[in-house]
Amino acid sequence: MIFIVDCMLGKLAKWLKILGFDALYFSKIEDSDLLALAQKEGRVLLSRDNGLIEKSRNIETLFIESEAWNTQVEQVLNEFGLWEDVSPYSRCIECNIELKDLPKGRARNLVTPFVFEQAESFALCPECDRVFWKGTHHKDMEFKIEEILSKRKRKK
Ligand SMILES: [Zn+2]
Repeated sequence: MIFIVDCMLGKLAKWLKILGFDALYFSKIEDSDLLALAQKEGRVLLSRDNGLIEKSRNIETLFIESEAWNTQVEQVLNEFGLWEDVSPYSRCIECNIELKDLPKGRARNLVTPFVFEQAESFALCPECDRVFWKGTHHKDMEFKIEEILSKRKRKK
């Protein structure tokens, strides 16, 4: 399942990407372009704008209820049953592209010697060529991910 996120919901888009989901987002885009892209690429539109949702014929949409980004993320994961698919840090947040594993040997010249010694696994964004490794991300982000995952409703 892939998404396109309304301009007003930047934080939701960012967090869906952090959790590994394909969530296309533009801070500025015409409604008609947004809808055309959703239709063309088969993306589910996430929006809090009833006017926009009304215009979205033939496109699957989800009206986002909360104003809080973490509750928004929960709603999306619950609504589409995506908890099993959460895969943190598997996508470039800038490019919305899936990262590729980078063998340690090939990372040698792409990171500082310190990072090369410390990190065990590396990943590369094929779009912007940024290299990621465990530790790239702030502790604060780790904590927030834990918090989101703890909200998962136990269903059997
Ligand atoms: Zn990238």
